[in-house]
Amino acid sequence: MDYYQIDELLTPEQILVRDSIRNYVKAEFVPKMDYYAQEHQEIPDLMRKLGSMGALGTFIPENYGGLGLDQMTYGLIMQELEFADSAIRSAASVQSSLVMFPIYKFGSEEQKQKFLPRLATGELIGAFGLTEPNHGSDPASMETKLVKDGNGYRLSGSKMWITNAPICDIAVVWARDEEKKIRGVIVERAFEGFTSPETLNKWSLRASKTGELVFDQVFIPAENVLPEVSSMKGPLSCLNSARFGISWGAIGAAMDCYQTALNYAKERKQFGKPIASFQLQQKKLAEMITEITKAQLLSWRLGLLKNEDRATPAQISMAKRNNVNMALQVAREARQILGAMGIVGDYSIMRHMMNLESVITYEGTHDVHLLITGNDITGFNAF
Ligand SMILES: Cc1cc2nc3c(=O)[nH]c(=O)nc-3n(C[C@H](O)[C@H](O)[C@H](O)COP(=O)(O)OP(=O)(O)OC[C@H]3O[C@@H](n4cnc5c(N)ncnc54)[C@H](O)[C@@H]3O)c2cc1C
Repeated sequence: MDYYQIDELLTPEQILVRDSIRNYVKAEFVPKMDYYAQEHQEIPDLMRKLGSMGALGTFIPENYGGLGLDQMTYGLIMQELEFADSAIRSAASVQSSLVMFPIYKFGSEEQKQKFLPRLATGELIGAFGLTEPNHGSDPASMETKLVKDGNGYRLSGSKMWITNAPICDIAVVWARDEEKKIRGVIVERAFEGFTSPETLNKWSLRASKTGELVFDQVFIPAENVLPEVSSMKGPLSCLNSARFGISWGAIGAAMDCYQTALNYAKERKQFGKPIASFQLQQKKLAEMITEITKAQLLSWRLGLLKNEDRATPAQISMAKRNNVNMALQVAREARQILGAMGIVGDYSIMRHMMNLESVITYEGTHDVHLLITGNDITGFNAF
């Protein structure tokens, strides 16, 4: 699955980290993923396992519990996690890019010391509350309110479709203050008036917990407000980091689907021959590896730009949109190659396909990323 020898473009350290995550994921998660997804069950101790394998907040400096690794390595880790299941990558993305990143970037020294090391080990599970029942693609219109009250604030409103909401210890939540500014606050599980009911009956990301964050006049002490941001720049910069990781993660899911379909096509015989010998199946497989290779090159270049802090939000949008769509198409084609066997949990393809239906929607929908590219190249905002 390295058709263009892209490994030669990586550093020995990047390859070392990637391969150690790959081995861990294959041993620890892959054999049991079908069970967790079928049972709609969270993966036991997932966050602690991710912490122990060094997969959380890898780009956060070591003095706050991170590993101080580069962005390319972060991307490669996301790829390996999503090879097993998008639920695992989602957990790592939220924890690293949507919870640790804003605390590191916009938090006070006390907030960094208090939360980052325990988030890095997985002792604390974080959630990120931006989407609301009435505002998904348009988060700037959010209604969740922050009103001054003595030595702190009262938070009221609700967030919806939040990864890890039912099991989180803390949540970074975005709300509008009385001056109409967007503020980020750290909500702790024990805060009175905070509840997080689970969203049930999902057909997608079944091994991941999703839920609401409901705030009934929750008192937020002043020390839990992120001091260094007061605009949409806060949540949007988190999304940039997460979307970058997703662009890599999707490649992992596509790799697993492709490899599974290739192996199956070589073994499955019809009309006395392996189905891999038929041109129609070869077309599917050849197009899959072509698209995977193009996505790998896109993400590799984006990784270099991100390492130099030069990747623009629009460039990240392009990679997220392209690679997730690519992975979904690969999953659909791979499922066809397996015929009826493609619909059962003995193979991972259908699970990946259903997961990717969420991935193509969250962190900016497929349509919204197209509009971002359109805006970037024309100068006209078509939202
Ligand atoms: C499993 C899962 C986990 C999630 N985890 C989180 C999380 O941890 N934290 C969080 O904050 N959010 C999370 N989300 C929410 C996710 O980010 C939103 O679902 C997403 O932003 C889209 O919002 P929406 O679902 O309200 O769709 P809508 O915004 O209602 O969009 C519906 C459709 O309309 C299209 N559309 C919208 N505006 C335009 C326009 N101007 N022009 C053309 N078409 C348009 C969209 O592309 C889409 O196809 C999660 C979602 C899922 C499914």
